[in-house]
Amino acid sequence: MYKIGIAGAGAMGGRIGVSIKEAGYDVTLIDNWEAHVKRINTDGMDIKTETDSYSVNIPAVLTKDVSTEFDLIIILTKAMHSEAMLQQLQEAGCIHQNTAIMSMMNGLGHEERLSQIVPLSQIYLAVTMWTAGLRGPGQLLLEGEGSIYLQSADGETDDHTHAILQILNDANLNAQISSNVFEAIWSKATLNSVLNPLCTILNKTIYEFGNYPASDEMVMPIIEEIVAVAKAKDIHLDSHALLKKVESAYPKEAQGLHYPSMHQDYSKGRLTEIDYLNGQIAAYGKTFNIPTPINAMLTHLVHQLESKLQ
Ligand code: NAD
Repeated sequence: MYKIGIAGAGAMGGRIGVSIKEAGYDVTLIDNWEAHVKRINTDGMDIKTETDSYSVNIPAVLTKDVSTEFDLIIILTKAMHSEAMLQQLQEAGCIHQNTAIMSMMNGLGHEERLSQIVPLSQIYLAVTMWTAGLRGPGQLLLEGEGSIYLQSADGETDDHTHAILQILNDANLNAQISSNVFEAIWSKATLNSVLNPLCTILNKTIYEFGNYPASDEMVMPIIEEIVAVAKAKDIHLDSHALLKKVESAYPKEAQGLHYPSMHQDYSKGRLTEIDYLNGQIAAYGKTFNIPTPINAMLTHLVHQLESKLQ
């Protein structure tokens, strides 16, 4: 049986880890937050859903103390902490030649950064429509339904791909092997690159942003830059379909009443994933000589906000 480590076990890592553990797998949560790890080991992970409250026994370990060799490591830190996490796991001997490393984080370029630490052939990419929240250390809020698309970063479908699919589906996580995971990742990153910075800068819910009559005039130029950069990376996106995807989040009965995660992070005084969304678009734009002034400006605006946090 696969030994599975969840590297970064906050809201989303907690959700994925607990679901896989409940399906009977050997799962360890790996995290840096001492109070969280302590409470999970003492009382189990406390879970609240729309209809139920219960707790799940699952081992948790501080990153500095982990030494287990894993067959599968799912990375769900915030994007800016993923390389340090992978490096620590590598140095602690947790990664062997055949360990699959799967990123399920939001944002772009993870395969490029993580493959500086482990070979690309060991890296898998997933994009998830599940959501999760933390109510406090060791306390998850799990609402709604979701899905996962996954593929190896080099596009090969190997034994790990099928094994990971089986694990996720045994855990009722509604997973599929994608034939083009990059398209799914870029499509979600586009949604996040529009709504995360705009709602954070404007201090608006998604519904409040979408309620502005000319919101599409703000959204489309961001999307067009992303589509141009994606094309240079041989990823083909449809700007009108992406605009529709953004607009479908506006209604109150969709995601409208929520503030996007970037707004939530900023409000809690935490740094954001902007460099892995608009910032990564602007960086690719520089590489390919494609102008991305709007994505660059959004990145600067969010960094300006973040600079007030220190
Ligand atoms: P999170 O903030 O819940 O957890 C990330 C890390 O921060 C964890 O190591 C966690 O222990 C730590 N942390 C959280 N609160 C803390 C506190 N008060 N004190 C100290 N440490 C704390 O992040 P997440 O939402 O699980 O996101 C992980 C990745 O998954 C990101 O790339 C995110 O974009 C992506 N993602 C999240 C969701 C979601 O609904 N949460 C959905 C899809 C993708």
